[in-house]
Amino acid sequence: MAHVVVLGAGLGGVIMAYELREKLGSAHRISVVNQGSRYSFVPSNPWVAVGWREREAIEVDLGPVFARRDIALHPEGARRLHPDERRIELVGGASLSYDWLVIATGPDLAFDEIPGFGPDGHTRSICRVDHALSARDGFRRLVETPGPVVIGAAQGASCFGPAYEFTFIVDKALRDARVRDRVPMTFVTPEPYIGHLGLDGVGDTKSLLESELRQHHVKWITNARLASVDATEMTVEEMTEDGAAVKKTHRLPFVFSMLLPAFRGVEAIRGLDGLVNPRGFVLVDEHQQNRKYPEIFAVGVCVAIPPMGPTAVPCGVPKTGFMIESMVTATATNIARLVAGQKPNARGSWNAVCLADFGDGGVAFVAQPQIPPRNVNWSSSGLWVHAAKIGFEKYFLRKIRTGVSETFWEKIALRTLGIEKLKAVVTDPAGEDRTNV
Ligand SMILES: Cc1cc2nc3c(=O)[nH]c(=O)nc-3n(C[C@H](O)[C@H](O)[C@H](O)COP(=O)(O)OP(=O)(O)OC[C@H]3O[C@@H](n4cnc5c(N)ncnc54)[C@H](O)[C@@H]3O)c2cc1C
Repeated sequence: MAHVVVLGAGLGGVIMAYELREKLGSAHRISVVNQGSRYSFVPSNPWVAVGWREREAIEVDLGPVFARRDIALHPEGARRLHPDERRIELVGGASLSYDWLVIATGPDLAFDEIPGFGPDGHTRSICRVDHALSARDGFRRLVETPGPVVIGAAQGASCFGPAYEFTFIVDKALRDARVRDRVPMTFVTPEPYIGHLGLDGVGDTKSLLESELRQHHVKWITNARLASVDATEMTVEEMTEDGAAVKKTHRLPFVFSMLLPAFRGVEAIRGLDGLVNPRGFVLVDEHQQNRKYPEIFAVGVCVAIPPMGPTAVPCGVPKTGFMIESMVTATATNIARLVAGQKPNARGSWNAVCLADFGDGGVAFVAQPQIPPRNVNWSSSGLWVHAAKIGFEKYFLRKIRTGVSETFWEKIALRTLGIEKLKAVVTDPAGEDRTNV
């Protein structure tokens, strides 16, 4: 009997556990280590921050559903991974050994790299639900006492979609409160151009997002580096296009601000030589498997992906939900093969499929593959995106509550749309499996 441990029960970790249970059957042991026993749907956090969602509506108690699926839950969290001993040291001192490990610990939020930045400083965050709830207090104060708003992302950030989403959601919520006319808004981003998204744009995201910002009276600063934040003002350096010099220093007053931080790997795995890169992201090959520790796999935001190309100010590559689901399917397939004595052969498509909600509209895009030139490079906008995002939230939370990683209808829909989670595997004349890279 093999023991597979999943470290982290966020978007990637929970469906990882479900898909492992489906692929391995009941003969093997599956355990999940998480900080807490509740799953929280991160993409709904922007709605929580303006009061459109309550915490209870986007969280799931994992205890009962894991018990039904025969998955053990360790909610105390991991203090440190000891890969040479194949064990996880849990908070509280106990140890959990594994035959196979999947790391799905998401991001550690690097607010501390910029003075005054983040929820312990002077800006708000929507990265976690408790941050979003605290941002809601700030938003309510903004409605009572309107003033300038700054939203965006800091240097090194990789998750740009939610920054755009939050800009337009705040705009809509302020219009609903009839105070938008008293709120000058600025979007600040390290991207070289609006709509780059860490992906060098997808379809027409540059024109679409510039047009949306213009129509909603939001000014923007690109190639931006956040230097420091104090209680009422932040200093933003706009860099030259080659990144060599500061073109202009902006002092931006604000009464409400939310900027997404750069991400790095979590403390429990940071600094483990051969397992993670200098930022603490897990090094994996095309099978999601670490080369130094082949019994370790990784999925989600914790995976190391090099940036798309040089930019004046560092921009990372986003790891979006569908891309994470494709990593999960590849990993579950490969672990099941290894347990059965076969070699891993599954490779995630890493296609980026995204819905960015703007409160009463939105932008959708599909990038296949993620790195240009692409086979599919499509973007579109409209009210349907807002409706689709609500539908996706309900659908995904239902999957988490019922313990299913991919429903029959999802399989049919993805096949109809030609969106694959795995790259096709072909066996060459020498009997080696190859994927169509
Ligand atoms: C505000 C926001 C909105 C987003 N919206 C979208 C969207 O609309 N569409 C989209 O495709 N993508 C979106 N993303 C990107 C991405 O899909 C999400 O960030 C997603 O939650 C990442 O999944 P993950 O499993 O990698 O990490 P997470 O969901 O963050 O899960 C990580 C888990 O690991 C646990 N963990 C961490 N350290 C430890 C430890 N030491 N021991 C035990 N457990 C640990 C955490 O408690 C957490 O449960 C969004 C991201 C953000 C920040």
